Amino acid sequence: MHEMPYDFIAIGAGPCNLGLACLTAPLRDVRSLFLERKAAFSWHPGMLLDGTTLQNPFLADLVSMADPTSPFSYLNYCKLQGRLYNYYIRENWYLDRQEFDRYCRWAAARLENLRCGHEVSNIGHDAASGLYQVVGRTAEGESFAYLARKLVIGIGGVPRFPDGCAGQDLSQLVHSSQYLAERARLQAGRSITVIGSGQSGAEVYHDLLQASKQHGYSLNWVTRAPRFFQMEDAKLTLELITPEYGDYFYDLHPTVKAEALDDQRSIYNGINQSLIQRLYALLDERRHRNAPATRLLSCMALESCRRAQDGRGWELDFRHAPLARRYRHRTDAVVFATGYRYQVPLFVNGIRDRIRWDQHGRYAPSRRWAVDHQNCEIFVQNVGLQSHGLTNPDLGLACHRNSRLLAELTGHDYYPSETRTAFQDFVPTEDSGFVALGREVVGS
Ligand SMILES: Cc1cc2nc3c(=O)[nH]c(=O)nc-3n(C[C@H](O)[C@H](O)[C@H](O)COP(=O)(O)OP(=O)(O)OC[C@H]3O[C@@H](n4cnc5c(N)ncnc54)[C@H](O)[C@@H]3O)c2cc1C
Repeated sequence: MHEMPYDFIAIGAGPCNLGLACLTAPLRDVRSLFLERKAAFSWHPGMLLDGTTLQNPFLADLVSMADPTSPFSYLNYCKLQGRLYNYYIRENWYLDRQEFDRYCRWAAARLENLRCGHEVSNIGHDAASGLYQVVGRTAEGESFAYLARKLVIGIGGVPRFPDGCAGQDLSQLVHSSQYLAERARLQAGRSITVIGSGQSGAEVYHDLLQASKQHGYSLNWVTRAPRFFQMEDAKLTLELITPEYGDYFYDLHPTVKAEALDDQRSIYNGINQSLIQRLYALLDERRHRNAPATRLLSCMALESCRRAQDGRGWELDFRHAPLARRYRHRTDAVVFATGYRYQVPLFVNGIRDRIRWDQHGRYAPSRRWAVDHQNCEIFVQNVGLQSHGLTNPDLGLACHRNSRLLAELTGHDYYPSETRTAFQDFVPTEDSGFVALGREVVGS
């Protein structure tokens, strides 16, 4: 047990908490500790496909949007690697995903406040001292226990499978998060079906399509969405991924939030334009190459998934709502590119009564991401799509959240935020000439 309490302990070191660690590192008065269960930083290793890029410009690195002068910036990484001129001439605005992973590993290796190979398994609270005790085990099997005044939980999501997979042994199903590790096994079959039409689904389909002739498998890409839609990136739409919009969204009625999120699906859930163009070109070219069959099917919601009776492959049932028909499909292999969901970790069981929950058993975060009843001790990263909207998972907003979190954690605003971040007024201001006449009751 380390007797001296930390000002805060952060659990998990994905990009969100890693950025917080980088912003905290130079603050000599702040005692922080970051605990990550993996032996070393890695960013979605199953999806580090060649040629895939971040959806955000390089300024959405770990620190720049909070502190462009930070030694942990991507540009400083290039400079220290002796690659700044190559980067400048290449004009690589959107970093390769593999490059972002390398950059994050570089940052992680320079942090004294980060301990990898430390999995947190329990947290307790001592009423007398007001301290949290964070307990777990190292990769070498040794137990650890640290004390802290405050906590930041940033543990990311777990793979989500469609409801139709209920009852199946999920360890037998391939999710896009394990795609690279499973690729060779998938390609050994005669048919593969990819489910889900977000960016990950499109990347998996594109990758498998490129190699389909070489391996000789047929390939299907199926989505329940009404179409394979493109990620919106018009400038005025991107103003919805700003701190100002996040603040506006937070104050909306829950019913209005749910409707807005549904409407915004194509901003946070579509396929980027350049990938759609590459895919379309590939589909067109392979017609002249005598390549194995491939099909793209929309409006097909998976209803059930089970092992085929002969034990080889899978039987999938779909419902096509507009046609009001059901379809059955037999395939050797399936990849579920169906996203992630948040799972409340078991390690909060010891402090459940200190946390505020919503009616669905999810955290109920304050505007500044506190989930304890006093709004000042337990903070969460990247878990509030329903409360904070589409700004929640976006890497471009992680710096802003981290600068605000640090202010909450330390009581000092080390990285002040800009007051105006959008040209639009999400709420008409008093001097706008638009006079408020009254308020209707929403969601009653
Ligand atoms: C393939 C892919 C590409 C994406 N690309 C983009 C993009 O281009 N732009 C964008 O804005 N967003 C993108 N996202 C969305 C989002 O930015 C990422 O999911 C991001 O990794 C979220 O960061 P995080 O820190 O919240 O969680 P994670 O990256 O999931 O990290 C959580 C960490 O917590 C650790 N952990 C979990 N439990 C424990 C425990 N008990 N003890 C200690 N450690 C623990 C895990 O090992 C993990 O390292 C992408 C998502 C995916 C899946």
